[in-house]
Amino acid sequence: MKVTFLGCGDGFSIEQGHNSALLTFADTNLCIDFPESSHFGLHQLGMKLNQIEHIFITHLHEDHVNGLQKLALYHRVYPGRVKPKLYVPTGLKDDLWQILRHGLELTTRGKRVFEDYFDVECVENKFTVEGLTFELVPTLHVPDMLSYGLLCKPYFYFSGDTRLDENYIRSIADEVKTIYHECHMQDDQLPSHTSLEELLTLPESIQAKVILMHYVDDYLELKLREKFHQQYKFRLAKPLLGYS
Ligand SMILES: [Zn+2]
Ligand SMILES: [Zn+2]
Repeated sequence: MKVTFLGCGDGFSIEQGHNSALLTFADTNLCIDFPESSHFGLHQLGMKLNQIEHIFITHLHEDHVNGLQKLALYHRVYPGRVKPKLYVPTGLKDDLWQILRHGLELTTRGKRVFEDYFDVECVENKFTVEGLTFELVPTLHVPDMLSYGLLCKPYFYFSGDTRLDENYIRSIADEVKTIYHECHMQDDQLPSHTSLEELLTLPESIQAKVILMHYVDDYLELKLREKFHQQYKFRLAKPLLGYS
């Protein structure tokens, strides 16, 4: 299992790309979320959009889904080995198609539906790809908004966008090698995201497993990163670096 961030910036990031990870395993791949900036990340890895075989969507904020229309069209024009398979939490499917349909429904060859572009699988609690199980974990992002993290034992927990759910993190920490957790890395507390201050309440043994993602572009500056890495056990995710 290799986890490569195609971007690890927050929703307003210009330089890092929005948060999205490419998992490669068992001769296939799965993207967690697909913002527009992931296209450039893939390009830098020497990959094309039609090589993406599986996608999981954590929630519908635009910095997590705004590359899907392009990916869908690219696959239609330049078919890859397989039609991309889209794993969508059940409650999000109709809303996601509403977001995408304005650019995908009408074509010169007639009307298209969601399933013309993607092999859509609605998922409730978990799904399996090539024998690997991914468990959906409801997160604490925005009240009443459906949002999910992904647990893939024994490899990782990927928080998606969320406030810190300390009890949950403590409960799974021993079962995974790495915890990819969002952290806005800003002085002001953002009510729908996790602050560094909150993450510092976790035991150091857990902190050492945490790679931070979805953070502000300020931390691209080398000196600031070095200082951070000297001071804390957390590591800041770096785009295009493969974590195993
Ligand atoms: Zn986000
Ligand atoms: Zn969000």
